[in-house]
Parts: sequence; structure tokens; C-alpha cells
Amino acid sequence: MLFDLLERLSSLTRVWFRQHPLLADLQPIQLSALLYLARCNRYSNTPLAVTEYLGLTKGTVSQSLKALEAKGLIVKTQDVADKRSVHLSLTEPARVLLAEVMPPDFLAAASARMGTDAQDLEHLLGELLRTIQRSENVPGFGLCKTCRFHRQTAIGGFCELTQEPLAAAERELICREHQPAELTE
Ligand code: SF4
Repeated sequence: MLFDLLERLSSLTRVWFRQHPLLADLQPIQLSALLYLARCNRYSNTPLAVTEYLGLTKGTVSQSLKALEAKGLIVKTQDVADKRSVHLSLTEPARVLLAEVMPPDFLAAASARMGTDAQDLEHLLGELLRTIQRSENVPGFGLCKTCRFHRQTAIGGFCELTQEPLAAAERELICREHQPAELTE
């Protein structure tokens, strides 16, 4: 059954992270927040977006973000336009740490052994996620380049929602404002 498979894979991942010597000082929720901040774009790196993405309470996430800041793994910066809003970004030590542990060795090794089947599986799991997002009222958090607001112009990417240009690397990041292109077609 699909649910059993997803649950088993997710518990294997949790165990692998918990036993990793480089992650001994990080609680699972702190690691999840770091992984999210490494993948999200500049519109999605606020404490509220981390809370929405993780689906946890504001208080729990706030404590975890404070702990990450105290460990020197994230920094807060004030929004240029809205002084009440803050953005969170990873420090260099956090980036080095994630580069060491991601993707999990067991997953990378199994994917390599599966060859093209692993690519097919990734595609199908992406389709599963998009199907859920289209039919349920869940926050977007999709890949920028697949968003209906994304336009490719002669000089690069452009977001029609925020009316701002997008750097090439931003196309590969996830965004809380994402809406699937299929909805408009
Ligand atoms: S194009 Fe969509 S996903 Fe990309 S930044 Fe704009 S709203 Fe976010």
C-alpha cells in the first residue's frame, strides 16, 4: 500500500538522520527547518512560511528557529520594504553541514542501483504531490519554474505575481506562493 511505503521510507530517513554523527546536536524539527530554508526562495524564507511548510505550531517553530540562530546556523535580516518582517537565511556552516549530509547516503546508493527507474519514481512522486496539491486546500510550496506566474523572457525569468525578475537559480527553488500551471489550462 502506498501509505505504508511512504511511512516506511520516511521513518528510515528519520533514523538515518538521527544516527548521523554530524547531526547529533540537531533536533529533527531543526533539521527540517534548515532543509526547507536551503530550498526556498526569497518570498518564502519567513518564520511564518517555515511554520506553514512544516505544518507545526507557531510556538514550536519559533523555539526551533531561535535554537538554530543560537547555534549559528541561521541569521535573521529585516525586510527592506516592511520593517516588521524578517527573512531567514542559512549561514556558511549550515550550508557546509547540509552539503555533507544531503542526500542521505542510503538513498543516493539505492537510486544509483535503480538507474532510470529512480528517475521515473521521482517523476511519479512529483505527480502524486501535485495531484494532492491540486485537489486539497494545502499551501503551494512548488518549484518556481512550474508555477503559472513564471515567465521566461529574453533576459531571464520573471514573476508575474510579484512583478520582479527572477535569477536563473531561483527557478529551481520552492515558493509558498506557487500555483500549478495546469490550473489555468
Ligand atoms: S513565479 Fe510563482 S513560484 Fe516563482 S516566485 Fe513567482 S509566485 Fe513564486
